[in-house]
Amino acid sequence: MPANNSILRSYGAVPYSHMKPPKTMDRLDTWKILVVDDEPEVHHLTEIVLEEFQFEGRGLALLAAYSGEEAKEMVRSHPDIALILLDVVMETDEAGLDVVRYVRESLKNHIVQIVLRTGQAGQAPHQEIISQYEINDYHSKVELTAARMITIVTASLRAYRLSLALLKLNDALREELDERKRAQAEIHRLTQFQESVIDSADIWLHVMTETGQMALWNKAAMTISGYMKAEVADEGALWRKIFRHDGHLPDQESVWAEFSSHDHELFDREVPVLCKNGEVRAIIWNSRRLYDHSGDPMGMIFLGRDVTEQKMLERQFRQAQKMEAVGRMAGGIAHDFNNLLTVIRGYCELSLIRLNEQNSLYLKLKQIDRAAEKGENLTRKLLSFSRNHVVTPSVIPLNKLIREMAEMIGRLVPKNIELVTRPADAEVFILADPGQMEQVIMNLVINAMDAMKEGGRLCMETFSITINEEAGVHGNGLAPGEYASLSISDTGVGMDEKTLDRLFEPFFTTKEKGKGTGLGLSTVYGIVKQVNGAIKVTSEPFKGARFDLYFPRIDIRRKIDEQF
Ligand code: ADP
Ligand code: MG
Repeated sequence: MPANNSILRSYGAVPYSHMKPPKTMDRLDTWKILVVDDEPEVHHLTEIVLEEFQFEGRGLALLAAYSGEEAKEMVRSHPDIALILLDVVMETDEAGLDVVRYVRESLKNHIVQIVLRTGQAGQAPHQEIISQYEINDYHSKVELTAARMITIVTASLRAYRLSLALLKLNDALREELDERKRAQAEIHRLTQFQESVIDSADIWLHVMTETGQMALWNKAAMTISGYMKAEVADEGALWRKIFRHDGHLPDQESVWAEFSSHDHELFDREVPVLCKNGEVRAIIWNSRRLYDHSGDPMGMIFLGRDVTEQKMLERQFRQAQKMEAVGRMAGGIAHDFNNLLTVIRGYCELSLIRLNEQNSLYLKLKQIDRAAEKGENLTRKLLSFSRNHVVTPSVIPLNKLIREMAEMIGRLVPKNIELVTRPADAEVFILADPGQMEQVIMNLVINAMDAMKEGGRLCMETFSITINEEAGVHGNGLAPGEYASLSISDTGVGMDEKTLDRLFEPFFTTKEKGKGTGLGLSTVYGIVKQVNGAIKVTSEPFKGARFDLYFPRIDIRRKIDEQF
């Protein structure tokens, strides 16, 4: 298309609103130049000078404005104007500069080139304005020859093209930056997702790099060990704190040998850890070496399952089984033994009838009978422990029971022992054999008195308690539910770990020969178990002992309702 066709001939009388350039004006093969001047003559001259002008093979499209306000409207509706040839003084002395401010500040258009044209040299703007508003050049109209104008337009279009290219590059860069930010946000989101998955697992998980740095330390590792990741940041700290060579913990070499044998894979190997609070926990480990795509080792992953509670329950279970076996055996022996005693006492009685009391054999036989009688008492205890005893359960109000027992015991306890009862606010009921319950209390009270030879306080207490899921599982092996508790505590010599471990075994006693039978607590155990109760013992050497007995609580009102 010839260049002169693309020149807009729309000066003079044509009002601005009709001057909207035809569609062809928006085409890319022309450079848009806005001529702003209140003198039609200037437009005319400019048009003549630039009629044949081309830059880089493209002609010009001249837009015309006759005032500052018109010019603003033009720039706003044509963001692709490359150059403004701008008169300074029009409707006001500063109309041209107003246009400049509007273009640069309000429209934020920094690529359109601006060349000021002044009527006289004195109207030239100050240097600060020229640099502040990125003005390319200014000339007085008088000295503006055609050749000079062409040079100015050429230079300005070159500058415009460069700015445009830079702007496009900038846009491309910003887009790339945005894309990168989006990708980073996505990676962040994925990482968080992974972390939350890893943290929600109930398994200890940590990863050690080849150089011995802690790369991953999940929430379970933190909860079980009590250490934050920063506290075990490297392998040295881990060994020093968690796999410490200390008494019951295996030493570092042997543990490490375990970990690093089997080609760095470890399956279901138990290695205890030392927690921050001093507790030792049993952990079953699986570990394996991690490799990258090219087969180079990256580190080791360790998965640990905390089996401390499980092991404790297993131990309790084994203990219970042992007790049951011992009980059954004791029961069997007691039964046979009781028969033998019956025979012995029978013959004693028969012989005693025949003898008169002055006979020297009479007293001896009496001694045999008495010993046999004691034996019978012993076997009775054994039998009740082994559950061969016939029991007749009835509803027992615990508060009433401890009040009655306190009255009876009151006569027995020495002066240096204070006897206290603390009944629950409301009466609590259980289902048990009253005679057996009395025996339970007696056995516990006797032990407490034995433990307080130097005096102290003996307390009998009752209360209601609800065992919830949590306490049921981790506490004392009781199923969740409503319980009545009877506690007997003393301020005596207390017990060490070893005694606590064997306390309920039949014939276990720490008392001197002839003093203890070791059957008191095993009997208590048998009776409480028989009514689906449980026993919790708390004691430390020299700090007294507390026996909490739990019995299923009877809702007495419901029982009565059921009967009627
Ligand atoms: P015995 O009283 O005949 O020794 P028990 O079965 O009643 O047998 O008690 C076993 C052991 O438990 C006792 O020898 C004693 O070491 C310990 N023991 C029981 N109750 C207490 C207590 N209240 N304070 C301290 N030690 C106790
Ligand atoms: Mg005893």
